[in-house]
Amino acid sequence: MRRRSLLAAACTALLPARVHARPPEVDVAASNAELLARLRAPGAPLRVWQWIVVHHTAAEWATLEGIDRYHRKRFGDPLGAEYHFVINNGKKRPAGLVEAARWRYQEPAAHLFKPENAPASIAVCLIGNFEERPLPAPMLDALVDLTAALMRECSIPAERVSTHRVVDDKLTQCPGKHFPRAEYLRRIGAGT
Ligand SMILES: [Zn+2]
Repeated sequence: MRRRSLLAAACTALLPARVHARPPEVDVAASNAELLARLRAPGAPLRVWQWIVVHHTAAEWATLEGIDRYHRKRFGDPLGAEYHFVINNGKKRPAGLVEAARWRYQEPAAHLFKPENAPASIAVCLIGNFEERPLPAPMLDALVDLTAALMRECSIPAERVSTHRVVDDKLTQCPGKHFPRAEYLRRIGAGT
């Protein structure tokens, strides 16, 4: 048995370093509170926004910087990510951590096939594939808090908060069949 456990220890030592590092320690609640407190001072004059649309990346290991690079290349847009906010899922960064993306520039995002269905829309993207798995509770909590703050600061009614699939006439599964749309809409006060 002793030989065996020594061998096991040696094998473990030979394993390569973990491919995916742990998400760094971040105080998610404090970081999100600070972001929400500064929503009206994004760094550029605030635009008039009329809609909020929820997306997912369909990729579990995405980061804001990676999305920036990908969209800059794909769409030739120097501002990068075609989303205004991203919400992390705990893979690369802590679950529920909100980051401001295009919101910092107050520019429209090319996030819909039919932009006329939701003009002047704020795109919020959940990192992960929610066609494949349920949305973690900290992500839904963060999404609800962000949505409520945006509705308040930009005077957007709950009737103008929706998901990509619904806004784009079912041309996509985004944000995935496991996204709890009814619960989300209920929590932001839709239909009340
Ligand atoms: Zn989408």
